[in-house]
Amino acid sequence: MLVDLRVVEREYLLAITRALTAELDIKDVLNIIVRASVELVAGRAGIIALAEPSRERFRVVAVAGISADLLKHFTPLLQGLPYSEGGEQEAIEALTERLKVVAQEADMGLTHVMRLPMQIGQEVIGMVYVFRSGGQAFHNRDRHLLMSFADQAAIAVKNAQLYQAVIAEKTRLNAILEQSADGVMILDPQLHITVFNKVLSRMTGWTADEALQQHHQDVIHWRSLKTEIDLEKAMETGWPLPGSAHLYVEGDLQRADGTTIALGITYAPLLDQQGQMTNIIANVRDLTRYREEEALQKTFISVVSHELKTPVSIIKGYASTLNRADAKWPWEVQTEYLSVIEEEADQLTDLIDNLLDASRLQSGTFELQLRDDVDIVALAKSMARKFSSQTEKHEFVVQFPPDFPLANGDERRLTQVFNNLVSNAIKYSPQGGQITLSGQMVNERMTISVRDEGIGIAEEDRPRIFQKFSRLDNALSRKTEGTGLGLFLTKAIVEAHGGRIWFDNNQKLASVRGETGEQTGTTFTFTLPDNEEIT
Ligand code: ATP
Ligand code: MG
Repeated sequence: MLVDLRVVEREYLLAITRALTAELDIKDVLNIIVRASVELVAGRAGIIALAEPSRERFRVVAVAGISADLLKHFTPLLQGLPYSEGGEQEAIEALTERLKVVAQEADMGLTHVMRLPMQIGQEVIGMVYVFRSGGQAFHNRDRHLLMSFADQAAIAVKNAQLYQAVIAEKTRLNAILEQSADGVMILDPQLHITVFNKVLSRMTGWTADEALQQHHQDVIHWRSLKTEIDLEKAMETGWPLPGSAHLYVEGDLQRADGTTIALGITYAPLLDQQGQMTNIIANVRDLTRYREEEALQKTFISVVSHELKTPVSIIKGYASTLNRADAKWPWEVQTEYLSVIEEEADQLTDLIDNLLDASRLQSGTFELQLRDDVDIVALAKSMARKFSSQTEKHEFVVQFPPDFPLANGDERRLTQVFNNLVSNAIKYSPQGGQITLSGQMVNERMTISVRDEGIGIAEEDRPRIFQKFSRLDNALSRKTEGTGLGLFLTKAIVEAHGGRIWFDNNQKLASVRGETGEQTGTTFTFTLPDNEEIT
């Protein structure tokens, strides 16, 4: 008899082990265990219940011999009565009492109950319950028989929990990598790509699907390098050495569509305890903006030094001429030279003011001194008067309706706007022509235009024109002075007023880049809030 049982037990244990290694769902494994337990001790029904995190209650996870609708009656057996080795005798007595009620309610004729703890170390993670009907109480031998089943169940549950924790952690890590603001790529030791996040897809134009499993070399094509070596070359020369630092590679990378992007990649080796490399983690940064800043910085320095030097050398030249000990200059020459010096000094002041404004804009300390009675018409007229004394080729026209309202704005700044637009109009229409300052109410907005008959602006330059230091590559850009700050500041001032600025070429086919021909020029237009709009 005992031998028979041993054989049966062994068979069940084998079946359970097989189920465990077949990676069946934890529910299936527990169902096999509870069925085996019931059969092995000739029981009638069984339950496996797991401890809830609070440990006060148990939750049924596998059943044998109890139909789903009757299960609710068993709840009282699963509550209270925590397991303790010494107190099990009493607990079983209490359970048997409770079972009487349960058996009646469920109409199942169950008479005896036995339970075994599912233990991992000292921790009870669940219970295996077996019920019998009929006279025979459970014996200590039955307990011993079922012990290994309860242990198996505990192991199965623990494995499943660990597995789930690993999966959850992996999902969490993947989400972090996916959401990272930097590009992230993980390589295996053979340099195959195993992780390729969203940002990196955006940078390189490769989708994760296309890049995964590919060799690093097949995805990361450098057009040109700024650093000395790339990853492959570094590895040829022995990177990573034990305890060696990260590898930084920077350059222009060829994207999937053939365009290039400036990237910096930091490769960090991940070593196991034996010092073997298990992965390489690559952090990828888009350096486009940084490069733009760098280029801008360079332009800034060259433009500004050139623009500052010109008036300074003129001033210096005229001043030292006047100052020559061997010469006595007639009065007319003296005043002429002095007024040149004065003009150039004004030029310098304007330039310095522009630079200061640009830096105020950058630091966010650019402020308007608003007034609600700025007379735009008077401003336009005084601009036309001022500039017409400086040019003979241009004719100024000022056109405003008689009821044009007063503006709400900063008069000094709006003067600057006119100054920039009108000086551009003159500068970029070297053949001369009409310069028209006009205003209108359009859709109840004050709309002001400065129109010239100059060289026009190419359509493709449209996005650049209002940028800092942008001087277009046209026939005049090398011949005329300028820092490319004028329109940048003009736009900032108009927008600070809540307005908008744009430009139109006067005729669709206006010639660009300064070729002579039917040049029809450009119209810059901006809107401003009038004094009715103050809230
Ligand atoms: P700055 O105004 O700082 O002395 P700038 O006149 O070159 O220098 P912006 O006023 O910002 O700079 O103008 C930028 C560029 O836009 C100019 O270099 C010029 O090529 C182009 N541009 C501006 N206004 C006109 C215009 N009315 N007609 C044709 N091109 C223009
Ligand atoms: Mg200008």
